[in-house]
Amino acid sequence: MPTDNSRIVTYSPAYTIVPTYECFNRCSYCNFRTDPDKSPWLTLAAATSILEKIQQKNVCEILILSGEVHPHSPRREAWFQRIYDLCQLALTMGFLPHTNAGPLSFAEMQKLKSVNVSMGLMLEQLTPQLLTTVHRHAPSKLPELRLQQLTWAGELQIPFTTGLLLGIGETLADCWETLTAISELHQRYHHIQEVILQPHSPGNQQTFDAPNFDPHKLPEIIAKAREILPLEITIQIPPNLVKDGEWLLACIAAGARDLGGISPKDEVNPDYPHIQAGELREILQIGGWELVPRLPVYPQFDYWLSGELQTAVKRWQFNSQ
Ligand code: SF4
Repeated sequence: MPTDNSRIVTYSPAYTIVPTYECFNRCSYCNFRTDPDKSPWLTLAAATSILEKIQQKNVCEILILSGEVHPHSPRREAWFQRIYDLCQLALTMGFLPHTNAGPLSFAEMQKLKSVNVSMGLMLEQLTPQLLTTVHRHAPSKLPELRLQQLTWAGELQIPFTTGLLLGIGETLADCWETLTAISELHQRYHHIQEVILQPHSPGNQQTFDAPNFDPHKLPEIIAKAREILPLEITIQIPPNLVKDGEWLLACIAAGARDLGGISPKDEVNPDYPHIQAGELREILQIGGWELVPRLPVYPQFDYWLSGELQTAVKRWQFNSQ
């Protein structure tokens, strides 16, 4: 992890694969989901062919990002198995998997730990107020369910990424409350590697009728988050959702030090193409910052991984020397 006075900003050279876009939740700001019969699951053969094409392209992280099958559905087990198999496939082909597939049971998390170098789940916002608005039809967005995931990740020693979604009807006090909850859980388990501050950015599919989160407010929130969160947690912002280079630099000056996974497509915000590393590097250079690739697991967590995963990680550390 870069020290706070270094001039280093990191990103993860990544590729996102989507086991399925189907999701039983209907968050009104979503630009990702489809109904169950509209998204055939990604087969292992199709995934192999995708991964073969990127094997020589210096992609390290495979983000496995999935819509959710209801925990009580008879299809849940097959859905979970497909995710597990995709992680294992990515690992076998030399990549480092990071899964974000919504709330999981303790047993599911425990199983996925063996084939992921880290995992993630956005806390979004803890205020129950949102259950009557944007999350009215999204049972997975119950705040206590998501806090439970962060607790289990800590108990299972899974290096974890979480974050806030900004501009979905919360107040600033709600943001500080959510950040404080993350901070407290981290102080108990020391397992949060990064916190994403993601500004709501309207897309073509959503029904939520609200403007972009004002990117000018982002530096202020980053600065306050930097005060609330322990220093070892990196603050991440998605550069494709921050209007321009000037504001990106303002966010970094305020304390953001990571730009997340940069892949060909932002699956969650498909209307906002990722800015590729070359262009980001040029923007950052203007402010005297250096853009450096990182792995999807931060070095201080390596010892939490199984022997097999540690070997996979070491191969990448060796490659990037
Ligand atoms: S935001 Fe996530 S949980 Fe909500 S509907 Fe979309 S895919 Fe499902």
